[in-house]
Amino acid sequence: MTAKLIRKRERKAEVKARATEPSAMFTRCRVVGCSKPARAGTGDGLDTRFCRSHADHNARHGSPYQASYRAREIAPYRVAALAWLEANRSDTYVSNAVDRVVTLLRASGPHVEAFRLRGLAPQERARAAWARLRKARIDPLRVVAAWLAVEMITRDDPQAERKAEFKQVQAAKLIHRMASGTHKRWGEGPTATELHVYPRSRGRVLRHVGEALNEAVELLVQHHLQRLPQI
Ligand SMILES: [Zn+2]
Repeated sequence: MTAKLIRKRERKAEVKARATEPSAMFTRCRVVGCSKPARAGTGDGLDTRFCRSHADHNARHGSPYQASYRAREIAPYRVAALAWLEANRSDTYVSNAVDRVVTLLRASGPHVEAFRLRGLAPQERARAAWARLRKARIDPLRVVAAWLAVEMITRDDPQAERKAEFKQVQAAKLIHRMASGTHKRWGEGPTATELHVYPRSRGRVLRHVGEALNEAVELLVQHHLQRLPQI
């Protein structure tokens, strides 16, 4: 056998060996200081960037390690944002953002019961999230206020995660909770049967909802973020 042929066979064997090794051997979780292998960690699509626990955290919070703001931390910002919006309803950028949220609500298609969401694509579940807000008659001003609250708390927090994805997920979680699930009740008294189904608040659905809201309020934030009240 010629040297050239031997080299060719060796290369072939090496490629074959690599192909049969699990891919997790080749990649580590991208979080600095995490030595776990990266793997598909969520049932919401394949996230090969992080280990299971960091992928799961990322799906829920919009960051592999930064925790979501607590409801009581962000509540005063939501109140202040809503008051500011009410006082500035006639502002061009406020009315533009509100109109765009109204369009999102109107264009979201028919209402889908929470227990029928399983198996729908993330994009379809995101539309259903907007349709739920419409059905619950949530004031579009409150939806805009949720985004502004996230911008304001990020502005005031020196440790904040400033990536768009984190803000999108934080805002989407807030509006997700405004219209909560499907509730049914049969019968009366102690024998009554109740069904409560809450749509999951994680994964790509939150990204789709957050991205759409981000676009709707983008101009308002660009022009007025510095004028929004301090807490
Ligand atoms: Zn990790």
